[in-house]
Amino acid sequence: MRWASTKAEVPTPFPVFRDVPPLREVRKKMFREGKEVGFVATMGALHEGHLSLVKHALQENTDVFVSIFVNPTQFAAHEDLDSYPKTWEEDLQKLKQVQDEHAASAGPNAKSKIKGIFAPTVKVMYPTLPPSSDIAGNGSFVTITPLGNQLEGSSRPIFFRGVATVCTKLFNIIQADRVYFGQKDIQQSVVIKRMVKDFHIPTEVRVIPTSRESDGLAMSSRNVYLGERRREDAVVLSKALFAARDLYNSGEVSGKKIRDAAYNVFGQESQLRRKDGKLGGSCQIEIDYIALSEPQNMAMIPDFAKVDPSQGAILSAAVYVQPVDEPRTEKEVGQRVVRLIDNVILEPREKAL
Ligand code: AMP
Repeated sequence: MRWASTKAEVPTPFPVFRDVPPLREVRKKMFREGKEVGFVATMGALHEGHLSLVKHALQENTDVFVSIFVNPTQFAAHEDLDSYPKTWEEDLQKLKQVQDEHAASAGPNAKSKIKGIFAPTVKVMYPTLPPSSDIAGNGSFVTITPLGNQLEGSSRPIFFRGVATVCTKLFNIIQADRVYFGQKDIQQSVVIKRMVKDFHIPTEVRVIPTSRESDGLAMSSRNVYLGERRREDAVVLSKALFAARDLYNSGEVSGKKIRDAAYNVFGQESQLRRKDGKLGGSCQIEIDYIALSEPQNMAMIPDFAKVDPSQGAILSAAVYVQPVDEPRTEKEVGQRVVRLIDNVILEPREKAL
């Protein structure tokens, strides 16, 4: 393994690219050599979910680039841009371990490697204007509507503009044959697929299943904000989605009944029954939305409609986990609201007529 150096001369297990021209040089050579390039975009604070995308990318390509960039334009002013977890050293070690394990495997692409980490500055990614987090702000932006305005986009109006803009930039820089996104952020993957199609971006979008903790909670860089007691309560989100999926799998197609099955879990969890009638155990949990949508365009399936079993559906949800009611430690005193999202796919189970 070659150990390259960053500017600060700290040895890193992979070449780290801070700017575009050196990466372009490497990429040009790779085109000539006929390499197959996979790309995983991340904001760092890597966990098994991110690593699973990298593993898939290593299996399907000769070389992989991973970006680590906390993109300011997808955070609204009140969101957690400044406190977003940063774990650079650990991230690189985790990636090295994934690569080492991949190299030791007997798979057909065992020689594939992580070619480099793209970790640009904000100025490199937004060379002209300081990036705006204001929906009316100036800048060069990519918008994908109406897809980007519904569900997550309705709760976070700036979000998908920021994601589509930064991914366009990243795709132009890396020029990957395949890009890897997680099902965890399913609407994001649908937006990216639409963007790739509508802008004729020459890459294939691969969507990789959600990695979960052993109790079902979807892995997320933001889970570290929860702390122990809220972490226990948070499992209700995946439980609710799984219950609704079980009902669909048992033959139910009514939109209302499927969504109700998810709502009922929030209501029934005895640990979450509160005196004030609101949801939550150690803390209050507010449901932002529980939505059924069509798989291709995320169009809402209303309560009075049925899921078309030949198409299946996506059931997605978002909750706000409030700080604990009665803090017991200093950490708990400083808790902030954590927004969690998750989804399950209701798989097609009949052939289309
Ligand atoms: P982020 O760093 O949160 O922007 O995520 C980078 C990529 O990792 C996105 O494509 C996410 O969908 C994906 N990802 C995040 N969490 C998970 C997870 N639990 N399972 C699979 N993919 C994930």
